[in-house]
Amino acid sequence: MRGGIERFVYMDHAATTALCEPARVAMAPFMAPATDPGARFGNPSGSHAVARDALRAIDEAREHVAEVLGCRPAEVVFTSGGTESDNLALTGGLPPRDGVPVCSAVEHPAVLETTRAIGGEVVAVDRAGRVEAGALEDALVRIGDHDRVAVVSVMTANNELGSLNDLEVVAEIVGRVAPGAPLHTDAVQAAPWLDLPVVSRPADLVSVSAHKLGGPKGVGALVVRESTAVAPLLHGGGQERGRRGGTHNVAGIVGFAAALSHTALDRTGRVERVSALRDDLESRLGALEGVTATLEGTGSARLPGHLHLLVEGASGEELLLLLEQRGVCASAASSCASGAIGGSHVLGAIGIDDPDLAPLRLTLGADSTTADVDATVEAMQWSLQRARGAGSRGTSSRRAGSHDRGGVGS
Ligand code: PLP
Repeated sequence: MRGGIERFVYMDHAATTALCEPARVAMAPFMAPATDPGARFGNPSGSHAVARDALRAIDEAREHVAEVLGCRPAEVVFTSGGTESDNLALTGGLPPRDGVPVCSAVEHPAVLETTRAIGGEVVAVDRAGRVEAGALEDALVRIGDHDRVAVVSVMTANNELGSLNDLEVVAEIVGRVAPGAPLHTDAVQAAPWLDLPVVSRPADLVSVSAHKLGGPKGVGALVVRESTAVAPLLHGGGQERGRRGGTHNVAGIVGFAAALSHTALDRTGRVERVSALRDDLESRLGALEGVTATLEGTGSARLPGHLHLLVEGASGEELLLLLEQRGVCASAASSCASGAIGGSHVLGAIGIDDPDLAPLRLTLGADSTTADVDATVEAMQWSLQRARGAGSRGTSSRRAGSHDRGGVGS
């Protein structure tokens, strides 16, 4: 196990993943003391040499990010991460865009709660968590009868299940039924794994977060295509071409760009290697009694590192605690901001509400190994034996804890 926490097998890469070496190296000069000859600490908004040096770093980072995301440098708006990018995309800034925003029912809370907060509509998904084309079209037609559609937001890949939407299909519906409404996609989970210029091409607005792909926490980007207008959500000094005020997080942006470039370079081999590990894990865990892959039978494409399971005979909370006792870090559905316990809106939306099924999300990453898979299988066998051997204790905790820890997503 990596990351300095030797005793854990980390199976929660969708929540966050460790800083990659290229990002750490790239960020170092921006965090060095001023006495260090290589220190770069300027404010890129200034005009003197130290400031211009920082601006150069931001400009270079912007070019790298644009190249990997398949857009022009001027279309990249640096933000504090996926949550801010989603908020900016959905609202269109301050004041918010006119009209009614629309999103799918399994979006991350950064999209779903923003949509609800500004009076938007939520559209049903299928059994795999992909937006229902018919339901989307109906909603857009209905809104169009009395108002305009402000924006449509459909995630590239779901953070709990890993299932993928077909954005070409979504864009066709939006273009036909609500022409003029921008299409936003939350590509936060997709970014480490998919060819973004290809999959996100139909979208006008694309959210990405650095910490899911080996960059630092607290930085990300919203791609805003040239034809799409946004006002700033954070008004301030006019940074990011007036689309996002505030002094740049220079170290973070540089680390983000380095991680994104690194991700793009090793993507093909990593996807192959990690999906083989995930498939092995899936078939070994699926062979255990009462363990089913949640997407089984749906035919849905999914991210290479994701394995979502439904487990009989244990509560989600209990299972996580037992797995952790055996050194495995996982999550029940998605990780949560506050450790809060609540039902998963994603499982609810795909029609899974059996209180006797515990959700378990295992997500592999770039540094996952065969030994991690072996240890997870062993830990799962041990945990299930313990949970199911617990008799009435198992039953009562099952009732109390099913679908827990799922409410606030990562
Ligand atoms: N969107 C999705 C799909 C996510 O998985 C996350 C992660 O938590 C976010 C948005 C929020 O990103 P951030 O943690 O950078 O705010």
